[in-house]
Amino acid sequence: MGHEILGEVVEGNSGFSAGERVVVEPALGCAARGIEPPCPYCASGHYALCVNAAKGDISPGIQTGFCGDTGGGWSEGTLVAHPSQLHRVPDEVPDEAAVAIEPLACAVHAALKVTPGPDETALVIGAGSVGLFVVAALRQLTDAGRIICVAKHERQREEALRLGADEVVHPREIYGELTKALGAEVYAPELGKPVVMGGAEKVFECVGAQGTIEDATRLCAPGGEVALVGMPGARSCLDLTALWHKEVRLAGAYAYGVEEYRGEKVKSFELAMRISPEIKLATLVGPRFRLRQYREAIAAARSSGRNGHVKVVFDHRG
Ligand SMILES: [Zn+2]
Repeated sequence: MGHEILGEVVEGNSGFSAGERVVVEPALGCAARGIEPPCPYCASGHYALCVNAAKGDISPGIQTGFCGDTGGGWSEGTLVAHPSQLHRVPDEVPDEAAVAIEPLACAVHAALKVTPGPDETALVIGAGSVGLFVVAALRQLTDAGRIICVAKHERQREEALRLGADEVVHPREIYGELTKALGAEVYAPELGKPVVMGGAEKVFECVGAQGTIEDATRLCAPGGEVALVGMPGARSCLDLTALWHKEVRLAGAYAYGVEEYRGEKVKSFELAMRISPEIKLATLVGPRFRLRQYREAIAAARSSGRNGHVKVVFDHRG
């Protein structure tokens, strides 16, 4: 239940015609704001990092859905998007898959930003939609030697394995079964969480909670890298002892842009569209709710892991 948006073009111009199926890339960079010349980030394809998010022709806001002038996926009226934000949906990609292209593109970006090599282990902490999509992107787009996913619920466990995880462990086993699988040693300090000697070379934190961010740094190998894919809470008081002691690098992984992928410059959205049939993306979407059922929809999204849902969506049609 983010603000990923699938729709049809109402007024066709700038290369799109009315009725075409499109997905919206929400980042509101210089092009969408009518700013010329673009800032250096937009000019290099990293428009999610645009520094002009409060300037230009439209109200401040980093994304569609957070800007007073554009509307969003939860609005009843017409949503306004700049042609630079639109991606055509190929016929072979059904609506159910298209609506999940946006979060999958975030996962593609994370996997290509902190990329594990063939001799490395990628640890994905969390198996909500973000964590599962990161597992899929790692398997489809990188040469990761081994992928381990931390998943709490049965459906998450099954999907993580289907999407390419080699092993799945329960969160209560991270300082036991997981560290054993990583060949790491666990020690109990006088204060705080366990100290882990060893760990995974690349860790993807896909929850965004204080505890799991701390776990991510602890379970990372010395000199390794942690990608923060989950959105961290506004107020965090983190114990970063492991980050300091193991010289772990912490990298933000936000949204999408233009990726360098096997010698090709390609948008994260295009790569997400490309891998979506292979991973049977459509099977991860549902149930659907009408906008007027928003209470049930939010309740379903809040308990999605427990109830076996991966991506709960609104359907405005009809
Ligand atoms: Zn910009």
